[in-house]
Amino acid sequence: MHMRKINTDFECVVVGAGIIGLSIARSFSKRGVNVLVLEKNAKFGEETSSRNSGVIHAGIYYPKGSLKSLFCKKGNEELYKYARKRKIKIDKCQKLIVSCSKSDEITLNKIKSIANLNGVKLLKKKNSDLKKMEPNLNCFSALLSKGSGIIDVHNLMLNFISDIERKKSQIVFNSTVDNVDATQEKILFSVNSKETFSTKLFINCSGLFSHILAKNILGLKKELIPKINLIKGDYMKLSGKSPFSRLIYPVPSKFGLGIHSTLNLSGQTIFGPDDEKISKINYNISERKKKKFVNSIKKFWPDIIDRDIAPDYSGIRTKTEDNDFMIQDYTNHKVPGLVNLFGIDSPGLTSSIPIGEYISSKCLNYLR
Ligand SMILES: Cc1cc2nc3c(=O)[nH]c(=O)nc-3n(C[C@H](O)[C@H](O)[C@H](O)COP(=O)(O)OP(=O)(O)OC[C@H]3O[C@@H](n4cnc5c(N)ncnc54)[C@H](O)[C@@H]3O)c2cc1C
Repeated sequence: MHMRKINTDFECVVVGAGIIGLSIARSFSKRGVNVLVLEKNAKFGEETSSRNSGVIHAGIYYPKGSLKSLFCKKGNEELYKYARKRKIKIDKCQKLIVSCSKSDEITLNKIKSIANLNGVKLLKKKNSDLKKMEPNLNCFSALLSKGSGIIDVHNLMLNFISDIERKKSQIVFNSTVDNVDATQEKILFSVNSKETFSTKLFINCSGLFSHILAKNILGLKKELIPKINLIKGDYMKLSGKSPFSRLIYPVPSKFGLGIHSTLNLSGQTIFGPDDEKISKINYNISERKKKKFVNSIKKFWPDIIDRDIAPDYSGIRTKTEDNDFMIQDYTNHKVPGLVNLFGIDSPGLTSSIPIGEYISSKCLNYLR
């Protein structure tokens, strides 16, 4: 790799204008650091950040001590606060995790204890209470999370961008970062395989591509790049009136939270995502999946019929082996100025503000 000609020198470069890159750039900018965000697409947030459930999670499921548990609960509070201040549309519509079998009952109890350890209070509801709360719901019992809700993610990203640009940092689109040389005094990187620039800090938060970009970083030990599984999740839209006023979740599955019933901010019901391990990124949804969706949703909503649902959109989760976020900096890889983020799947949206604060506060000393 030849990376000699240097056009400009930057203080901090963030790769990826998804919710995480934008939050990190916003947080550095607030602390007086000039940031350049580079995005390969023509617009911000076109990948995972616009292909999710838009749910503000409460921080229920994550093992104590994990980064997910560290960031999610804090992120929940911060997101509601920020959204209210900026008048971003939210709906704190609550969530029910439902039990549809005897074994689900055991899982519900486990979920309640984990949530407790994370400082999240869940209320156990009996079938008779649930009949009043959600007359269309069919289950034995459920856990109520009062802190769960939904948010207008597009508007959230627009607000992060306005914070970034107000501080004179900038976002440049149609710019793919391809090669990186972290063996020099500053980090060299090329854009669109043409020009080469340098920066003191280089933050790789390129979502589904983070591990691929990491392989192109000279000076980073390749054995530190985690194995990543890509898990695709499809959504189906329900036509007609929504049967529920809250988010309805079954007990979690191996790779996700189970095909759940969510609402969008127009009051429409969306079912999904399912979980399917894939090797290549694609966002196609097959009509043939309807049967699987109907069978799964029937467990808590027996009235569902095939013809009322239609393929809507899909998203892809990037998962590490231990199912936690992974943030690698100097302390892990000994490369000054380099930060890699891997496995930022759900609850990445909810955790976005504290992730930004955590990285900018950790790296500030390096710049000063
Ligand atoms: C199906 C699904 C449902 C989810 N539901 C929720 C939810 O309800 N609540 C919640 O909290 N979280 C949820 N999440 C998780 C959340 O969506 C993600 O954690 C979050 O969007 C990740 O943001 P990101 O910025 O890391 O990635 P992305 O949004 O993918 O952004 C990465 C950006 O990097 C750019 N990029 C990649 N490579 C390069 C390169 N070489 N050069 C320049 N740019 C590059 C990409 O184009 C992209 O814009 C869900 C995720 C999925 C998949």
